[in-house]
Amino acid sequence: MQMKTEYAIVGSGAGGGTVAAELARRGGRVLVLERGPDYCFVGNHLFAVAVLDKHGFLTSQEGMGVARALVTGGSTMLTCGTASRPPGGVFERFDIDLSPYFEKAEEDLRVTALPDDTIGEATMSLLEAGNRLGMKWVKLEKFIDPEKCEPRYCNCMLGCPKEAKWTAREYLDEAKKHGAEVIPHVKIDEVVISGGEAAGVKGWQKGAGDFEVEADTVILSAGGLGTPVILQRSGIYDAGKGFFCDPLVFTIGIHPRLKGGFDPPMTVGTFDFWESEGFLLSPVVDPWVSMGLEMMKAKPSKLVDWPKYPGMMGIMTKGKDAVAGRINVDETFSKQLTYEDRAKLDKGIAISTKVLLEAGCKPESIWVNKPRGAHPGGTCRIGEVVNTDLETEVKNLFICDASVIPDSLAAPVVITLVALGKRLADHIRPEAQET
Ligand SMILES: Cc1cc2nc3c(=O)[nH]c(=O)nc-3n(C[C@H](O)[C@H](O)[C@H](O)COP(=O)(O)OP(=O)(O)OC[C@H]3O[C@@H](n4cnc5c(N)ncnc54)[C@H](O)[C@@H]3O)c2cc1C
Repeated sequence: MQMKTEYAIVGSGAGGGTVAAELARRGGRVLVLERGPDYCFVGNHLFAVAVLDKHGFLTSQEGMGVARALVTGGSTMLTCGTASRPPGGVFERFDIDLSPYFEKAEEDLRVTALPDDTIGEATMSLLEAGNRLGMKWVKLEKFIDPEKCEPRYCNCMLGCPKEAKWTAREYLDEAKKHGAEVIPHVKIDEVVISGGEAAGVKGWQKGAGDFEVEADTVILSAGGLGTPVILQRSGIYDAGKGFFCDPLVFTIGIHPRLKGGFDPPMTVGTFDFWESEGFLLSPVVDPWVSMGLEMMKAKPSKLVDWPKYPGMMGIMTKGKDAVAGRINVDETFSKQLTYEDRAKLDKGIAISTKVLLEAGCKPESIWVNKPRGAHPGGTCRIGEVVNTDLETEVKNLFICDASVIPDSLAAPVVITLVALGKRLADHIRPEAQET
């Protein structure tokens, strides 16, 4: 298939969805090319297994698990719906001021903390336990509509069936309203470059074969794992270095009375150790099917506790990792935790254990799963592969996804990407050009 457009956007997740909506709203002709399907049966284990890369078993060459979703809306379909701005300094050191864009992003995503009864009694008891132990535990900001959220049976990480959680599909719908086209099942392999300028993209469409689009401007938003592969195949060999994934580990216990298993995830937490130690603590447990798999991988003897899932409480330690992994041109990747990365997680596990015990979990019930990453990024960093306008060495070839983030944030990423997407749209097609 051969097509022509003004803006070709590769990938429809947090970065791609934002740029698509902004450019289409300003009158640009936008074509979004998405590798994954456009499944609508969201909010169940089947959906999560179907859309997770390698059905949830994607690992680095060293065996570290990393999660990403290949579907329209990208990984935003599986988020916990938690909003957080990045730590100070990450973008400021490049003279990038995202503050006006954060405000717009938070407005679009209707960011707010959830009321106590939606958060749930079990999760609130962890907040209280953390505060009794002298930490500052607070409610976290969410891009979840409390009116629509079903608190006692939350399915955020399976894709919210109630549409309470914001996903990039909202931006894709807005882009479509303004004339954009979103084509699923198209895997882009390469950027077509002519005379040092981007001239389009080439790839493959399921059921149709070779696929090529001519475009005036190309925006790669295939994520921290996807974009560097396309760049390497297009001759930009610096892409792929410095991979981070914000590794996380869950410390899990069982409460004799409270039922935390189905509470919405990451609704409270503490940033006490964020700047000083490089980790964030926040209650989450895996959805119940993945919980069984996690038990099998980390501690098979714990499988006897699986039926007690409703009484489980978990605290996630999300750490800042070294920008030290590498994405290869054949889509394999190298990532293992350094000694310092592991030490941060261990400190978080020790503190989480104290909080679970203080909240009343049984000591013998506590165990820890294997570390994995859910925020692949850093592989086309600002200052290295892209400039501060997110443009590569190839004219009119831009990147807008987690691969441009200069450093592991150890925190939710979506708000940062929405802000970057809005800023990029201002650069490519300022509002004044609106038709
Ligand atoms: C379980 C889980 C929970 C999370 N919770 C939160 C949270 O609470 N808050 C938060 O802020 N963040 C959260 N995140 C992280 C967040 O979802 C991601 O960091 C963010 O979506 C990354 O955006 P992106 O644009 O870089 O990539 P993605 O959103 O992953 O989008 C990339 C898109 O590109 C497509 N693609 C890839 N390769 C190609 C190709 N060759 N051709 C065409 N298309 C391609 C993919 O299919 C995908 O749709 C979570 C992630 C996971 C997995």
